[in-house]
Amino acid sequence: MQEISNITHENVREVNYIKILQHIKRNDGSTKAELTKYLDVSHTTINSYIQTLMDEGFVVPSGTADSSGGRKPVILKIEPNARYSFGIRVSPDNVYLILVNFLGEKIDLVKFPYSGMEDALIELREHIYEMINRYSIDMDKILGVGMAFPGLVDMDNLILEYIPNLNLSNYSLKKFESDLGLRVFPDNEANAGTYAEYLVGRDEKLENFVYVSIAEGIGTGIMDDHFLFRGKNKRAGEFGHLKVSDQMVRCNCGRYGCWELFASMRALLKDKPESVSEELYLDRLFKDYDRGDSQAVRRIERYVRYLFAGLDVVLLSVDPSVIIIGGDLGDYAKKLIDIGINKLGLTKYFYGYESVRIIPSNIKSNAALLGAALLPLEQIFRFRYRLNIN
Ligand SMILES: [Zn+2]
Repeated sequence: MQEISNITHENVREVNYIKILQHIKRNDGSTKAELTKYLDVSHTTINSYIQTLMDEGFVVPSGTADSSGGRKPVILKIEPNARYSFGIRVSPDNVYLILVNFLGEKIDLVKFPYSGMEDALIELREHIYEMINRYSIDMDKILGVGMAFPGLVDMDNLILEYIPNLNLSNYSLKKFESDLGLRVFPDNEANAGTYAEYLVGRDEKLENFVYVSIAEGIGTGIMDDHFLFRGKNKRAGEFGHLKVSDQMVRCNCGRYGCWELFASMRALLKDKPESVSEELYLDRLFKDYDRGDSQAVRRIERYVRYLFAGLDVVLLSVDPSVIIIGGDLGDYAKKLIDIGINKLGLTKYFYGYESVRIIPSNIKSNAALLGAALLPLEQIFRFRYRLNIN
């Protein structure tokens, strides 16, 4: 983590741009004086930041605030239509496409089943152009198309290196990008979700956290002091494939005993009858648990023990201040955390747990999809390139 702690002036500026936008957004408007105080910088510095943001059209003056004397201060707001971006999430069964404005607010969303990657990309292109036309969006206001995949992604070369749950390896998105005529930003699903948690999920005090996405598999993203920690080969945080069991159960990755085999949503759905939907099955399972049904109790508590076994390792290796649990199983995260900590007491033997909070994500549904749409935004702040600065 050597290079991350070495924040240069250039980095500080970028973090401050994000902080300014976040502050203005959270308070639904802010003044230069408030921002100067908030960032603890000089008036000259704030003026230069704001000027840049106004030149880009990201921030606009919008009315005045009350003053105790003298000129009334101008309230700055974010221009929601300053830019747009698309986000795509590809799961084993469905493709999701979202169009968001500069505030990350949803304008439109479609979900469709697909049979193969080629077909999915053709259909995506059609949907994207349909939305651009429907909302009469200026092409140069579109930042790009972020894409979230559950596996290893080489974002610089637009290659899906290894996505076991989609049965893809070394799949190039270059043709998709050139056919589309928009920049494409692929990334790991958990990193996208982490980015969404960081930018729109909570207050900016959460600058060191690990986001654990429980879906078909388990993905984790590491936010370290405002930086998405990716590692040398951009594979950091593949905790889903951490070995947690000696059972000879084979994972899609080819190895045995991986965490996601025991603590993913798939693990919890293992005994689901074909005829019952996932939503209904989980709803029933947790209701049975609350009633004290012995089978449901056994199944869920076994699951929770595995979940926390992996969280132990996350804590030991990353030492975050917070672990956020979300993903497709996000609706049940609060319940699972409660069972693990309060009922089973799984954190009490573990040194350091007392200062680490394990909390559910508060992004309702699909943080990875929203995060994907926010990935092109990263480029504005050259967010991802900060890691390369030595
Ligand atoms: Zn595995």
